[in-house]
Amino acid sequence: MNLFTKCYNFTKADDIKKMGLYPYFRTIERNEGPVVKIEGREIIMAGSNNYHGLTTHPKVVEAAHNALKKYGTGCSGSRYLTGTLDLHIELEAKLAKFLNKEAVLLYSTGYQTAQGIIPTLANKGEYIISDKENHASIMVGCMMARGLNVDFLRYRHNDMEDLENVISKLPLKSNKLITTDGVFSTTGDIVNLTDLNRIAKKYNAKIMVDDAHSLGVIGVGGRGTASDFSLDKDIDLIMGTFSKTLASLGGFVASEKAVINYLKHHSSALIFSASPTPPSVAAAIAALEILEAEPERVERLARNGDKMRQGFKAMGFNVPDGRTPIVPVIVGDDFKAFHFWRKLFDNGIFVNAFVSPGVPPNMAMLRT
Ligand code: PMP
Repeated sequence: MNLFTKCYNFTKADDIKKMGLYPYFRTIERNEGPVVKIEGREIIMAGSNNYHGLTTHPKVVEAAHNALKKYGTGCSGSRYLTGTLDLHIELEAKLAKFLNKEAVLLYSTGYQTAQGIIPTLANKGEYIISDKENHASIMVGCMMARGLNVDFLRYRHNDMEDLENVISKLPLKSNKLITTDGVFSTTGDIVNLTDLNRIAKKYNAKIMVDDAHSLGVIGVGGRGTASDFSLDKDIDLIMGTFSKTLASLGGFVASEKAVINYLKHHSSALIFSASPTPPSVAAAIAALEILEAEPERVERLARNGDKMRQGFKAMGFNVPDGRTPIVPVIVGDDFKAFHFWRKLFDNGIFVNAFVSPGVPPNMAMLRT
């Protein structure tokens, strides 16, 4: 036995591959957004988070090209030292204005953003309270904080009674952070932010909302969850990613100036990691400008989501109610999901197969 024994004994992925049912790491040879080429075949892409198809928009592509020519391929350093470009500052200012927040800080991915914020802001003797179905990046951020002796508690998914039950047992005056996804990434549920905000105020908690799937999706002109609930002033930290609506790669957090300044000088994930590349930032700026100039895109996206949801329901599939473009078809059994995935793939449609432990047992789904 040695450290690698578990790797040598791990056969589950190969077993599923041998059955021809493996849906992961499929290699895309060409990507036009709604249509991709996989294994030489044109396939309809119904699984990506390219919500507005902006990864191939001429203005976004041109902005990335121009940045490449002007600044080169990478920053070769962290924001802290040699990696701050005028482009980063421009995107931070534009996002702050768009989200109606005092300041914004960019990270190199959304995943890194959660880890940059949570263990930096919550310290020993303080509490983090997290929805059980929050994204993995939030979970890992919370576990990092737990390693630093922060108390980390969880409440049942979007269950505000359970949140109150958990939080009311903590010392009232202690400092607390409640973290939640705005739009949950597997089911497309929207957080009950009105009640969450009321509870946070009652029990001295700050709120962090992950708007990865909310930016460009809900709220006025796609301004996200806080805007959707008219709570722009109440949500203390909004984090997000450029890997969905903004057609690029990177993450951000929006908050008060003092909080952003503190993160800039204490957040390990920011200080010790290279800053987002020039084409990534330029692409996100261009995508944000398109979203601002064409707010009707947000309504169209919602209509498309509704059309898909209603269509699936009419065909008799188990699809939860919702109003986001995340439309899961729940099939229950893991192998049923793999077989269903394969049939769709053979018929030229790519969706995401989610099985346990990514989803609760018997909740395997095809996420479209
Ligand atoms: N939060 C949520 C809710 C997400 O769905 C994702 C991406 N799947 C992330 C954070 C991470 O973002 P990124 O892809 O920029 O690392």
